[in-house]
Amino acid sequence: MNDAWREPIDPIRLAFDIDGVVADTMAVFVRLARERYGLTHLTKDDLRCYELHECLDVDREVLNDLICLTLDDEHTLQVPAMEGATEVLTRLARHGPLRFVTARIWPESITRWLHLTLHEVPGDRIQVIATGAPEAKRQVLHDLGIQFFLEDRLETCRHLALNGIQPFLYDQPWNRLPEGDEFPRIVSWDQFGEWVFPGNGGE
Ligand SMILES: [Mg+2]
Repeated sequence: MNDAWREPIDPIRLAFDIDGVVADTMAVFVRLARERYGLTHLTKDDLRCYELHECLDVDREVLNDLICLTLDDEHTLQVPAMEGATEVLTRLARHGPLRFVTARIWPESITRWLHLTLHEVPGDRIQVIATGAPEAKRQVLHDLGIQFFLEDRLETCRHLALNGIQPFLYDQPWNRLPEGDEFPRIVSWDQFGEWVFPGNGGE
């Protein structure tokens, strides 16, 4: 299932998760782990599962603190974008509104981040829905008429696939598991751009 997607993708049927897909959120997590807790050997490649306490030999309180810090308003605004994401999303915005569905509870800071990151996209073309829970994404996507969803969490991909939405798995260290092979894997935004705009045209 990791071959190039062969069916046309209608941009208006697409939506996106944010953290781990558009936003390189865990880059900030790793930086904070090094700066605040001296975990200088930690890299993003060590984040081999979504539930970090299951794969990192780090005290649970420390992990919880780092996750809270990473997601707070101040650090959200420091998150780098995934390489190539801005270019592809800016192109896609010419076809219609960009729809982002996040499991974050509060949408304000990540919405501000999106507006700053996608500064060439008119503000009214950026729509963000915060569900507060991954399982709630399906209904939101269904109501929006979304057919394809770019997501980095395997469990969410599975849930969506069982309910008629085609997930694309955005490659991250925490989803490089055999179970991920059932979904088309996106290894870069450039690759995804090729799927959405085949032949380097398709404006
Ligand atoms: Mg995510």
